[in-house]
Amino acid sequence: MDSNQKKGNEMNKNLLYRSIPKVDVLLEDETVRELIGRYSRETVMEAIHTELDGLRQFIAKAGDEEAAREQIGLLVPHIEHEVSAMHTPNMRKVINGTGTILHTNLGRAPISEEHMKRVMALVSGYANLEYNLEAGKRGERYSHFEKLLCKLTGAEAAMAVNNNASSVLLILSSLAKGGEVIVSRGELIEIGGKFRIPDVMEQSGASLVEVGTTNKTHYDDYEAAITEDTRALLKVHTSNYRIVGFTDSVAVDELIPLAKEHGLPVVEDLGSGVLIDLAKYGLTHEPTVQESIAKGADVVCFSGDKLLGGPQAGIIIGKKKYIDMMKKNQLTRALRIDKFTAATLELVLQEYLSEEKAVENIPVLRMITEPLEDVEKRARLLARRMRAAHLPANIEVKPCESQIGGGSLPLERIPSMAVMIRPEKISVTELEERMRRLPIPIIPRTANDTVILDARTLKQGDVRLAADQLKEYEVLEKR
Ligand SMILES: *Cc1c(COP(=O)(O)O)cnc(C)c1O
Repeated sequence: MDSNQKKGNEMNKNLLYRSIPKVDVLLEDETVRELIGRYSRETVMEAIHTELDGLRQFIAKAGDEEAAREQIGLLVPHIEHEVSAMHTPNMRKVINGTGTILHTNLGRAPISEEHMKRVMALVSGYANLEYNLEAGKRGERYSHFEKLLCKLTGAEAAMAVNNNASSVLLILSSLAKGGEVIVSRGELIEIGGKFRIPDVMEQSGASLVEVGTTNKTHYDDYEAAITEDTRALLKVHTSNYRIVGFTDSVAVDELIPLAKEHGLPVVEDLGSGVLIDLAKYGLTHEPTVQESIAKGADVVCFSGDKLLGGPQAGIIIGKKKYIDMMKKNQLTRALRIDKFTAATLELVLQEYLSEEKAVENIPVLRMITEPLEDVEKRARLLARRMRAAHLPANIEVKPCESQIGGGSLPLERIPSMAVMIRPEKISVTELEERMRRLPIPIIPRTANDTVILDARTLKQGDVRLAADQLKEYEVLEKR
């Protein structure tokens, strides 16, 4: 490049810089004025400065005058986009086509619209969260669902904390701080996101005494490990994996006599709290909360948002003397549930007063038990809509298998129906990515050359939303 050329270039750039509209000119623009009216002057000014900086950087690097002019012309639309992006929540509805019912990354258990409407009425104003209306004085936030939990499970007392990991922490801190807790090596589980039950337990200030081996733990192992420092015997339901083959473990009811003899409580972490017998609906029987209490467990804990189908919570039930110790523990203040959770939990638990109602009105149970024919109807409807949109893809309805997920019933597969999409013009990877970037993202499952949308986890309304978006945004077209 000789010096003349270089000079020509600089002059061009200077000209370009000078043709960028000034802030006061932009503020007179009709679109910009409308944005200020709709949002605020501050946010619009911020967007203007961000976009102007970006534009100057673009010009500094640009080798092509044409491209730079184009960007200058797009300044106002870019400002508009920037301002509206600032006001668009990052957390959005997604369409779950994965067939995983309790998808932890997608928020685990969905709450029904009916329940949310009723909760809205409580949380958008004041409610008697911690106020005893009969006595006219301070009440307990657990009071709204404690009786209900006792009735449903047969326990003497109940409470709830932030999640089930908190339950374990609070139980051990209340019953075993400074002492020892005996647990089988076959039950030391990782619960996802690198969180390990043993590590959570250590945080409580109790030391874990591990007994037995990964596949076998015997009654004698527990007995031999009891010392004067022992404070509790702990059973953890291996909810997210199974040890199969040459195995042995000691059930809660077998541990009870041993615990009684030494005056120790038996604690059971059930992981996923099931209140109904899933075997009735063709699934493997998962130990229910009621069974655990009936067998004599002193304290039982489980998640609110796994198979129970409620809000995120850790539910703790059991003998009153132990639950009282937990209610008084200072940690409880740090782990307490808020009004959203307390209100939702009460509504969800109330559904369990009738199993029929629970299966009908709790989305998780409804999805698990929905008859295959109904799932198939939804899959066929989606396929029909997609075919009608003439998308460049091979579209078929085929059987598939859904799973429960969320670390519950890991081996269980539920027969389901899916729309299988084989794109003609783009790759499966590209299709998956484009679906993920839609305004209402669609999260599918993929296998080899196929993108799979499992209809079991699709709501009725998702069918139209999915088909319409695939057409409108030309998701399957070559770009
Ligand atoms: C899932 C699970 C937990 C953790 O429950 P969160 O509600 O996710 O905190 C603890 N223990 C077991 C056995 C579990 O399966």
